[in-house]
Amino acid sequence: MKKPYRRAALALLAGVALPFSVSAQEVGTASTTKGATAETVTTQLPRSVRPSHYDITVTPDAKAMTFAGKAAITVDVVEATQTVTLQAAELTIAKAALTKSGKKAGTPTVSLDEAAQTATFTFAKPIAPGSYVLAIDYAGKINTQAYGLFALDYKAADGSAKRALFTQFENSDARRFMPSWDEPFYKATFGLKTIVPTEEVAVGNLPVESRKDLGGGKTLVTFGTSPKMSTYLLFFGLGDFERKTKIAGDTEVGVLTKKGDLAQADYALGASADLLPWMNEYFGEKYPLPKLDHIAAPGRSQFFSAMENWGGIFYFENAMLLDPKIASNALRQRIFTVVAHEMAHQWFGDLVTMSWWDDLWLNEGFASWMESRAAAKFHPEWHPELTATGERERAMDQDAYVTTHPIIHHIATVEEASQAFDNITYAKGEAVIRMLEAYAGSDEWQKGVQAYMARYKHSNTVTDDLWREIDKASGKPISQIAHDFTLQPGIPLVKVTSSCAAGSTTLALEQGEFTRDRADKQPLAWRVPVSAAGTDDTRAETLLQGKGSLKVAGCGPVVVNAGQSGYYRVLYDAKTFAGLVKGIASVQPVDQLGILNDAVALGYAGNQPMADMLDVVKNLPANASPQVMERAAKVIGGLADFAKDNAKRKAALSRFATKRLLPVLNTLGWEPKADEQATAGDLRATLIDTLGALGEPSVVAEARRRFADPASIDPSVKVAVLTVVAKNADAATWDKLHTMAQEETSAQVKTTLYSLLGRANDKALADKALALSLTDEPGVTTSPVIVSAVGGEHPEQAFDFVLANYDAVMSRVDSSGATRYVGRLATGSSDPAMPAKLDAYAKQRLAAGSRRPVDEAIAKIQNRIQVGQTRMPEVDAWLAKQGY
Ligand SMILES: [Zn+2]
Repeated sequence: MKKPYRRAALALLAGVALPFSVSAQEVGTASTTKGATAETVTTQLPRSVRPSHYDITVTPDAKAMTFAGKAAITVDVVEATQTVTLQAAELTIAKAALTKSGKKAGTPTVSLDEAAQTATFTFAKPIAPGSYVLAIDYAGKINTQAYGLFALDYKAADGSAKRALFTQFENSDARRFMPSWDEPFYKATFGLKTIVPTEEVAVGNLPVESRKDLGGGKTLVTFGTSPKMSTYLLFFGLGDFERKTKIAGDTEVGVLTKKGDLAQADYALGASADLLPWMNEYFGEKYPLPKLDHIAAPGRSQFFSAMENWGGIFYFENAMLLDPKIASNALRQRIFTVVAHEMAHQWFGDLVTMSWWDDLWLNEGFASWMESRAAAKFHPEWHPELTATGERERAMDQDAYVTTHPIIHHIATVEEASQAFDNITYAKGEAVIRMLEAYAGSDEWQKGVQAYMARYKHSNTVTDDLWREIDKASGKPISQIAHDFTLQPGIPLVKVTSSCAAGSTTLALEQGEFTRDRADKQPLAWRVPVSAAGTDDTRAETLLQGKGSLKVAGCGPVVVNAGQSGYYRVLYDAKTFAGLVKGIASVQPVDQLGILNDAVALGYAGNQPMADMLDVVKNLPANASPQVMERAAKVIGGLADFAKDNAKRKAALSRFATKRLLPVLNTLGWEPKADEQATAGDLRATLIDTLGALGEPSVVAEARRRFADPASIDPSVKVAVLTVVAKNADAATWDKLHTMAQEETSAQVKTTLYSLLGRANDKALADKALALSLTDEPGVTTSPVIVSAVGGEHPEQAFDFVLANYDAVMSRVDSSGATRYVGRLATGSSDPAMPAKLDAYAKQRLAAGSRRPVDEAIAKIQNRIQVGQTRMPEVDAWLAKQGY
């Protein structure tokens, strides 16, 4: 899966409590040191019966929001048993029968356990080992949020009301579509048939094999049989779609959109056709299906933007369609990276699948890492190495708190599996892979990955299966380093003391641990690949264990973690840091980012003066890389969070922002220039957003001037301009935005406009937005986007609203994000009362094992309160000293 986009105006997080908690019935624990076998993989089902093939026929009734299903599951009974238990949720079962070689072998009684999400078939006498077919007639419901089989409603270009159907099964919702062994280890082949309205387009994992007119406007569609795969990868979509294709090698690559939008999918189609042959080559295994479709759906989820169903990748429109109304380089970049991410999953996840959710990072870490690798190949002008430092920050932001977890951690329940889709699994996974690839060498790394693919295709693995292949290919102790970074949580801190003698610099290194809230604890130990480079690019490397040293020729500034491929923070001695600040203009952009990011984190944590990061921001050259300047703007924006109730600090900070950032915006201008760098548009949008949020009068005035004629705003800055207007809105402006949202015809832009209604600084307007979210007007998947937008500006107000309207809000959020929504909503709060309120909420609403997102929010809020008291006075002092 790909997590949602987090850019300011679109960024939104959320979730709902699952109606029940599932208790794990474990026969073993996934081992990180042995290969995956049935005996060692966690399961919630008995292992006595295993599926090998499913024939599923589904007849949806989109109007009634229900469906009828028939399943014929070929199973192997491996030991005699009187009961067969599989997974089923919110299904009713009308009848079931067991046959052997076409002859009746038993008619079971069926019992459903809604809490455990299982169905148990009990026979009169034990069934002997052998191959059988279990036939089940059942029915289920169509949901309004993205889980199981679900509907998305929209208005067609001619204004008519339309309903499209899709499925979303990761992590544990295939059981809402068919009774099944709904765990990744149980791979089987799938034959899907569906009875649908003749005029609609049905899409699945495989191409349509046959169509049969049943009369009465109905057609039976039969899809080709899939290779062996996990249940969570099955896909079905149905609606008034258009499709366009391209041939890439032996594969037909396709895009599907709702009628009228097909041209907006050209960019994704082109990217996919470029990426497929390149990935075939990288992985050394050819994509095994005859077609690969990318399907765009109207609507949103709070938890994901796309899903890697094998051969039928699902996207919410804002992750796949290039809507000309808001087209920008940032949007192109986003579409390309999401497409690359989901395509990488066709290998990492679909062809080779983790045995159990403990190793989810094998899917998500690799797919995230492949985004950058693909961008480096096809779009070096985006500087993906700079983007990657931002992803690493996201990981470290979670990993620095006591509430973090190791990359590989034990998952016992469905809720815990849902919660595992977090920054540790994605972003830390990606960062650790980048570090290990750099250490192994990229050719050796690729060889190891290819050997792993060849050996484990169409089966399941644990992480050590990969390390064994990489060790072999590289001849280096990769698995030892990998274990240090994947089996324990946290971030190494490398302390650097530098001295110069006889024309070379000696760096004394010492490994500690970087933490925001565990200062009293004995630091963990890692083997850390540490690199250093002088500004003339003389380099040195070592594998640091405890204490060590590096020697670099010359006596100029030396950057540690040069190239920023390492997953650790660097704390320089004061004199060395001052030298780096002085020479910052001659440091590589990626290292400028690394130095700034470390100084910010170490400053907030109290390891380094806050003045250090401000000195870096101040000293960056005016022509710094757009991505570096963007980060500087966000550092100032982050400090502004601590100035909301401190007018003096806000005024001083605004003066600094104006002095530092406004000239950069003025040089860039408000509209794209033909010859500007590819990432300049992102910087422009961030500068407008940051300066607008700080109330810089010229920026607010210019945004308002452009808003007077919204059609004239350049698409690439449209969201940024509207965000400034929305934040600073009065009642009349808010009403105008509301009218624009109502009248907008593009589903994607419409959702963005509704979310902007939640961004107002004015709390009375925020209340209006919250009330609007519970009406039918915005659409059921847009409602939680509005609530989350309010949470970004007014966390306490959004939190209180959700608790007061709990069932109404939660009915509009996906089940898979159940336990995450409320914690994330409150996470930006600085209210000392909030931790206790969150704790009370968790005690009342969440199972004990599902508290992590709430505990993470509490840890961040407590830390923010502490930072406000202990660290911000240094910022005030620096601003005063500089004359702001
Ligand atoms: Zn993914």
